Amino acid sequence: MHIVCSDLEGIFVPEIWINVAEKTGIKELSLTTRDIPDYDVLMKRRLAILDEKGLKIDDIKAVIDTMGPLEGALEFLDWLRSRTQIIVVSDTFVQFAGPLMKKLGWPTLFCNKLSIDPDGSIVDYNLRQKDGKREAVVSLNRLNYYTISIGDSYNDIAMMKEADAGILFRPPENVKNEFPEFPVSHSYDELKTIIQNIFANDSA
Ligand SMILES: [Mg+2]
Repeated sequence: MHIVCSDLEGIFVPEIWINVAEKTGIKELSLTTRDIPDYDVLMKRRLAILDEKGLKIDDIKAVIDTMGPLEGALEFLDWLRSRTQIIVVSDTFVQFAGPLMKKLGWPTLFCNKLSIDPDGSIVDYNLRQKDGKREAVVSLNRLNYYTISIGDSYNDIAMMKEADAGILFRPPENVKNEFPEFPVSHSYDELKTIIQNIFANDSA
């Protein structure tokens, strides 16, 4: 039996932090794991900037409320869910994800959590576990699933390597060039074709 573990940002919705950077005019917040592969370094930097600029959770949520799924994402997700199971495995936080998951029809989400003070200041972030994306795939493999993993960035590579099949979706050039072992899709139609081929070639 197949199961899909997919990243969220860049696959089904736009990059949350890039939108926050655009809407707040704080350019440095637009750095993502595409630019800084070390997630801890990246998050500490983001939280320091939010603190420095006095941005609270409601400011970030106001930006997220204006965001919607990428064009075609909902249709692709419906197609996929009619054929197999999918878990969205993300480095984002429950406090950020809610409005976006609603717009996606509430797919299952594995992610992390922010620590927020009563005044709305985001003071820390908590990883559910170290290497959460990879661990999700490890666990599903142990449950005897044939795992398919979809990602677009450095933070997805470990889970993609762990999966029986990994697929890149609209990756930046540096990620694509660094990991030529993964097939690359540029549209949901291409992604569908790759997944259909996996279904056809594997009787799992
Ligand atoms: Mg991503």
